[in-house]
Amino acid sequence: MENQLSNLEKIDIETFQNDLISWFKNEQRDLPWRKDQDPYKVWVSEIMLQQTRVDTVIPYFNRFLEWFPTLDDLAEAEEEKVLKAWEGLGYYSRVRNLQSAVKEVREKYNGVVPNNPQDISSLKGVGPYTAGAILSIAYGVPEPAVDGNVMRVLARILSIWEDIAKPSTRKVFEQAVRLMISKEDPSSFNQALMELGALVCTPTSPSCLLCPVREHCQGFYEGIQNELPIKTKKVKQKQVQMAAFFLTNQEGKVLIHKRSSVGLLANLWEFPNVEIDFPLQNERRQLAGLSEDTLGVIIESFKRMGQIQHVFSHLIWNIDAYTGTVSAFPKEEQDWKLVTIEELEDYAFPVPYQKMKKLYLDRNY
Ligand code: SF4
Repeated sequence: MENQLSNLEKIDIETFQNDLISWFKNEQRDLPWRKDQDPYKVWVSEIMLQQTRVDTVIPYFNRFLEWFPTLDDLAEAEEEKVLKAWEGLGYYSRVRNLQSAVKEVREKYNGVVPNNPQDISSLKGVGPYTAGAILSIAYGVPEPAVDGNVMRVLARILSIWEDIAKPSTRKVFEQAVRLMISKEDPSSFNQALMELGALVCTPTSPSCLLCPVREHCQGFYEGIQNELPIKTKKVKQKQVQMAAFFLTNQEGKVLIHKRSSVGLLANLWEFPNVEIDFPLQNERRQLAGLSEDTLGVIIESFKRMGQIQHVFSHLIWNIDAYTGTVSAFPKEEQDWKLVTIEELEDYAFPVPYQKMKKLYLDRNY
């Protein structure tokens, strides 16, 4: 590791900290989670910001805190309401883990978010990045908070040529932060690195001429900033063909289904759908047969509404969306419901099914 961090010797750490932190204090964006250091709010924001853009997160964060202003409110909330608050953000296990973890904080730590690495890291869904972010921002503990953004920035500053797609590489960067972090203001230091990655040292075209730490940057000095970081490509996502049905009965009620409590998009709601693993010759007949066999619904007057694609990290759904009327339903068990169009608002649907609902409403079938 020492070898990988040999360029650290070329940096005057104190000047680097000052340049970085004063830039952050002047230039930081006004974001709702920066208004105070409440560990619960910092926690919610950090979980939301994983794999999601800041602009997308802002309205979700504000609404989430309106609905669950305190850790106790979230611990006591119905799961259905919590999923609804997260609807559209994706990666729903994040919010399920968050709720389990706040319950644990209530039971085990009297409702106070732990302020040390051991206890906080033992909470569900709290990985090394989130632990470091909460500890440094909410409690001023000089712990590293290293995500892909921070790895990119430091790979350039220190000219580190390790593959950041490898999980073991994170340790190299955590060690770098431990050696560079300001002990007086670890919160600003960590946030400044993240902000620099978001605003200046961006993935494809870093704005080196505007950069507050350019003088310290080995990558810029060597002119290799665009070649870093090294990141090997992920394996290709699996493609899944599906047909999904927006089905109404004679009273105009819509048939919806609750997904299983385990696996992808667990406990969210969806429109009835089937996976198709062969090319359709006689679309309607085959779909009618499939929906009857697999879902137990008899569909009449099929209409194709369009196609929806949804990309997950490991797979891609290509959904052919249909509408139609149904004459036979699965029994109304807990997992199946017939609801009015207005009542659809009360259920949490993942993005592809929200798009499907929009297709239906926009075209006024
Ligand atoms: Fe990134 Fe360029 Fe700044 Fe170096 S000088 S940290 S490469 S923006």
